Amino acid sequence: MAEVCKECGNDEFNQGRLGNGTTAVTPLNKVMGSSFMTLTFCSQCGEVSSMKVDKPEKFR
Ligand SMILES: [Zn+2]
Repeated sequence: MAEVCKECGNDEFNQGRLGNGTTAVTPLNKVMGSSFMTLTFCSQCGEVSSMKVDKPEKFR
């Protein structure tokens, strides 16, 4: 990854999943559907570089 942490300059990142039912992202205008989010964060200081909704198609 060419990315560099803006906090500490480290270039190693880890990924983790955000959401476990109650904290998953849910659409505002639909009853059904939800998605987890994937976080990419610095392995040194934990600064989050990217936050991505796993299934954006569920919100269409
Ligand atoms: Zn960092």
